[in-house]
Amino acid sequence: MYFDILVIGAGPAGLAFSAMAADIGLKVGLFDRQSKTSLANPKNDGRDIAVSERSRKIMYGLGAWQKIDPAQISPIRDAKVMDGDAPFALHFNPQNAGADRLGNIVSNHLIRRALYDVADIRPNITLFTDAQVTALIRTENMARVCLEDGSVFTGQLAVAADTRFSQIRRDAGIKANMHDFGQTMIVGRMAHAKPHHHTAWEMFRYDGGMAVLPLTGNTSSIVQTFCAEEAARFMAMSDEDYAHDTAPRLKGLLGGLECTGKRMAYPLVGVYAQKFYDERLALIGDAAVGMHPVTAHGFNFGIQGLDNLVKHLHSAKIAGLDLGGVQALKAYNRDHRRLTWPLYQMTEKMMGLYTSNTIPARIARKAALRAASFMAPAKDVLMARLADVSVGKLLAGKLPSPKLPRF
Ligand SMILES: Cc1cc2nc3c(=O)[nH]c(=O)nc-3n(C[C@H](O)[C@H](O)[C@H](O)COP(=O)(O)OP(=O)(O)OC[C@H]3O[C@@H](n4cnc5c(N)ncnc54)[C@H](O)[C@@H]3O)c2cc1C
Repeated sequence: MYFDILVIGAGPAGLAFSAMAADIGLKVGLFDRQSKTSLANPKNDGRDIAVSERSRKIMYGLGAWQKIDPAQISPIRDAKVMDGDAPFALHFNPQNAGADRLGNIVSNHLIRRALYDVADIRPNITLFTDAQVTALIRTENMARVCLEDGSVFTGQLAVAADTRFSQIRRDAGIKANMHDFGQTMIVGRMAHAKPHHHTAWEMFRYDGGMAVLPLTGNTSSIVQTFCAEEAARFMAMSDEDYAHDTAPRLKGLLGGLECTGKRMAYPLVGVYAQKFYDERLALIGDAAVGMHPVTAHGFNFGIQGLDNLVKHLHSAKIAGLDLGGVQALKAYNRDHRRLTWPLYQMTEKMMGLYTSNTIPARIARKAALRAASFMAPAKDVLMARLADVSVGKLLAGKLPSPKLPRF
């Protein structure tokens, strides 16, 4: 069977890309090893995703945002970053950028379900489920996807969206910078006595990080990072013991806690592919850039990269060029690198400082936070990007930074 594009992996990146490619008139074959039932009704995987304004607009354009129950979408009105027990905090206030929110928090399984629904209704997409891709063969003229059951599909271009540990990337000989942080992130929803005021908190403690993502009502997603051994101990705790242990780490910020969702553990590995294309192959989503979740950008970078790739493929299509030709792929590679490399590097360096407990590292991270706070224009421009407002609007509506509370 022949397709214009063969997409390997129907996670958020593969689904969104397929829908975008179908919208520019391309015929897409989409392959995933999961069953139709688990793709159509994904289980809650504990991830609560901070969706930036730009990503929200892209999802809206696909018709996916409208499929998410508004009662399950929680705005982030404010964000604060704390270093250890120090009273100093870096403060991101979207009002400084003329916006009412920094982004929205949505559960990953709802994003996956919404993107599945929009891909499912596009007639240009053929979805193959229970379809384990075992090989990708590329020649000068075509790409071929081979499945475990022996079937073979041909197209002009293959697009790999097969996780940060992409086998397709590896088989193609594309190197990747992989950073195992030697830590595990535990995520889980909790109800709390005090309101969160829709503020997201990032707390870098000396014995591991902690984050609070405000959900609807008096509920938050509580994210904690530990070494693997400690994480195993926390995963084995009862809900009561875990909540009891977690509350004092938040220093009274949310009052008493109660677990309301299942705890999930994710080993932390950052991945950056040396290049995002090869002959008749493009890498997207985590297969291209697997971010440390601390900056909440893996999904966001993924979906914004797809926008770029589809734009370049559209230009190639209009010009009557080969979709697997290097021109469009090189342009995507350049744009996606520009978008992702600075934050990827910054995150790696910050996490290097925060996983070290030496005195020089403590001094360096305090200095880094203060420098970021005093560099108000740079911080505000970053915020404008998150909230997707123009820099001109930001400068016109500039307000002085408020004084930060101690807790
Ligand atoms: C705890 C946590 C919190 C996060 N929070 C945020 C956040 O706040 N904001 C943000 O932007 N991002 C966040 N992320 C990152 C985000 O979840 C990922 O970037 C995103 O899910 C990656 O999507 P993907 O489609 O690239 O890959 P995946 O979701 O990994 O999907 C890959 C798909 O490929 C399929 N597959 C793989 N190999 C094959 C094969 N050989 N044959 C067939 N199918 C195959 C798999 O079955 C799967 O369906 C977070 C991540 C974690 C772990």
